[in-house]
Formats: sequence, structure tokens, C-alpha cells
Amino acid sequence: MYVSTRSRSKKFASAQAIALGLANDGGLFVPEEIELVDKSFLSSLISSNYSQRAVAILQKFLTDYSPEELLGCVQQAYRQDKFPGESPAPVVSINSNLHILELWHGPTQAFKDMALQLLPPLLSQALHQQKINEEIIILVATSGDTGKAALEGFRDVPGMRVIVFYPYGGVSEIQRLQMITQEGCNVHVVGVRGNFDDAQTGVKQIFNDQELAEVLAEHKFRFSSANSINWGRLVPQIVYYFSAYADLMKKNFINVGEKINFVVPTGNFGNILAGYYAKMMGLPVGKLICASNANNVLTDFLQSGHYNRNRNFYKTISPSMDILVSSNLERLLYHITDGDSQAVSGWMESLAKQGEYRIDTKSLQKIQSVFWAGHCNDEKTIQQIAEVYRDNGYVCDPHTAVAWAVYDNYRCCSGDSTPTVLVSTASPFKFNESVLKALNGMITSINSEFEALQELAIETGWPIPTPMLELQNKSVIHTAVCDKLQMKHKVEAILGL
Ligand SMILES: *Cc1c(COP(=O)(O)O)cnc(C)c1O
Repeated sequence: MYVSTRSRSKKFASAQAIALGLANDGGLFVPEEIELVDKSFLSSLISSNYSQRAVAILQKFLTDYSPEELLGCVQQAYRQDKFPGESPAPVVSINSNLHILELWHGPTQAFKDMALQLLPPLLSQALHQQKINEEIIILVATSGDTGKAALEGFRDVPGMRVIVFYPYGGVSEIQRLQMITQEGCNVHVVGVRGNFDDAQTGVKQIFNDQELAEVLAEHKFRFSSANSINWGRLVPQIVYYFSAYADLMKKNFINVGEKINFVVPTGNFGNILAGYYAKMMGLPVGKLICASNANNVLTDFLQSGHYNRNRNFYKTISPSMDILVSSNLERLLYHITDGDSQAVSGWMESLAKQGEYRIDTKSLQKIQSVFWAGHCNDEKTIQQIAEVYRDNGYVCDPHTAVAWAVYDNYRCCSGDSTPTVLVSTASPFKFNESVLKALNGMITSINSEFEALQELAIETGWPIPTPMLELQNKSVIHTAVCDKLQMKHKVEAILGL
């Protein structure tokens, strides 16, 4: 059963937690108990494919879904045509001690696909089980990656519609093209004249609008969210930590039971938290290394126990990590304090009111026994992409480069030579401008996104991901743009209210 991080009195089944998204006390759903796995479970994963591994893990958390239902969801999510290649989450070994877990082989070339392809079938199943028959309206505010991944995940899913708001002029050209050419009978994309925070604030206001909620209910609509506070988005991410471990055993880099570290480029703390769940389940994880860019609020917190969002916000070349409030940290605090929902509520209230909180020493020590944190600025990120390419012939995107730089730093500081998996969250093609700049100095002659892709393909010898290549011939479908105060009006118009 699941409870809210802010009060343990009410219990929810997993399908209920997924259908609701957020608890009504403002907390996040967390599992009350976590089932431990043993060595024979780990060994059994070696010969399984990704879908089988996924069912084995998901079963431990989604106990009100049958194994057949889970297999159905998983097979639909990780279809070969969506994730071409031998595995949806392949591991590339740089040397016997460093391995890259590539999570960007899905439809939108960023790791959000790993969860956003599985969330729609899990949610469909949950609604069915909960006998909810309103049409679900997924509202998304995106800084770039989530919007496209949600559009791909929810396109043409019966009983659901998706409306994405992106900052007009505030996303990369590839991200913009990916969204405005989106096909599907149930998708809407709207540019907002403003920045990501404006879009996000607008979406939150729409969610909390009581009047609108009543009108929606009359029309048999219900809002839902696709962002990473939903348990249905977090739980699919636990799988690839186990899968990476199984792959390393399979390739004889490690023996069953041997510890490995993970380095994770972190924003909202969803990805790395999934690694922590894997560890709580008994996956032999040594350290979880949390990598941030110049927005290093998490580095400071993990080092000092003081979370403080009152600071400058930087726009960086790893934009998916440009974030000052990492929502999923709340779940970590819950588990670290052994479910002290009162303490968690207090800290979250302080965060909402003062923009900061400070945890106790004991909790900090517990966190630091697992987590290590570091950060890396843009200049170093570019340098790192160049160095990694020069030394290993591997091309990584800026988010992955941030993780790599922090990993180098960690090894230097700690002398820890535990085999390590570096979690790679985006294809270098998706952030081609920074990557090209790193590989061959300043670029002056590139004047279209497609030229840049070609250039990168030549430089790396890697093929351009097919969905990106196809963007060139797609027609623009979504041209709507609105002012930030017009977002609610836009939603009403789309839904015909
Ligand atoms: C979303 C995203 C991240 C951050 O992941 P969190 O789960 O929010 O910590 C990192 N890299 C890329 C490319 C992303 O899209």
C-alpha cells in the first residue's frame, strides 16, 4: 500500500496512487514497505530481456496489477519500433570500471521516454480498475523534454487528451520542431509568451481552479499530470538500475552481490531517487552520485543539509537540469527519516514559505552514507565533452557530460574505484549545438538545425536518430501561441467548455 509523505493515516493501492498522481494533502505517494530481493533474484535477471526484467521489478510495487497486465503494459511501452536496438536501455562499456547506461533510444531521444512510454498504459489500467470513466486531460508545462515525451506517450491513447504548454522562444529548435509537428488525434501544443516558470505557474493555477474543476466534472473531464511526482512515472525508472546491473553480470564485469556506483545527472531528483529505491530493494549499490550544473542547490543540500532555493537561477547548456526545487527530494526525506511525515511536512512548509529548510544531523549523515554530490559549470561541460571524445571516442550530450565531470571529481576526491555506471540521459544529437562546439571549436557556418545534425553525424560516424531526420519533412500542425494569462482560456477553448 501507498501513503502520502505528509501523513500516513490513509492508505492507497498502487492503481489509486497512480490515478490520483498527488495526495490531497500536497504530499507525494510512497510505498509503505519495500520488498527485498536476494542474489538468486539478481542472477535470474541475467538471462531475461528488458521487458521481463521490468515485470519482475514492477510486480514488487504494483501489486494490484496482475503479471499479465504488467507484461501487456511493458510490451506496449518498449516496443521495438519505439526503442530500436538490442535493448531499450543498453550499457556501453568505456573500460572495465566505467559503463554508460544509455537511456535515450526512445522516440524523443531523452530519458523521459523510459517512464513516459509506460505511464499511459499503467494509467489506463488504473482508471479501468478504479472505475473512473471521465476523459483524462493531461496538462503539461515543459522546458523542452517532458512535453515531447508526454505527447509521444499519450498520443492516440483512448480516453485521454494531452495539452502541452511550452515557453514560446524558450526551447531549443529541435525541441520546438518535435512538438509543433506532433501527430495524434488527441494532442494539443501551445506556446506561451513567457518563460518556463510562467508556463508552470499557469498550469498549477489551472489545476487548482475550483470553478474550472466543477465545469470539468459536468463535462466528464478530469485533469491529471504527467510529471515526475506521479508514482507511475517513478516506478518504471527503478527497472533500468537492475537492468544495468544484470548486464554487467552478464558481461562478467561484476559478480552477483558485488557493489557498483551510479552517477546521475539530476534535476527534479526523480531519476536518482529511482536508484535509491533499487538500493532499498537490495540492489548492491555503493554510492549514488548526484551531478548538477550551475544550478547546484542539490549539491549544497547533500553537503550541508540546508536546502535553499533563494538564489540565482542560471540558464545552462544542460537545460533539463535547470531547476531550483527538486520535488522528488520529499520522497527521499520520508524514507531517510523512516517515515516521519511530520518532519517532512514541516520542511516542506518551510520550503513553501521561506524557500529553505534545514534537516537534522542524523538524517544528513544517513543521506551522506549513500549520496555524494558535485556540480559542473557550462565551460567545464564543453571541455568534458571534448575530453571524453578525445580520450574514449565517445560522444556525450551536455547532461551526460555534467555527470562525467562530477564522476572524475568524485574519483579524485575519494579514491573509490568501485565499478561505476554513468547514467546518460539524452542523445548528443538532441543538444547538437553544444556538442559541435565542443568537438570542433566555435561553429560559425551552421545555419540550420539539420545541417548541424548532418555535421554531427559526420563528426561522430553515428547515424542521425530516425525521428529527428524525419522532422525535416513533417508539416507544422500546432501554431497556437497565447499570453501567460490566457492559458486557462486556451484550455477551455480546446475542451469546448
Ligand atoms: C529530465 C532530465 C534530467 C533530470 O532528471 P530528473 O529525474 O528530473 O532528476 C536530466 N537529463 C535530461 C536530458 C532530462 O531530460
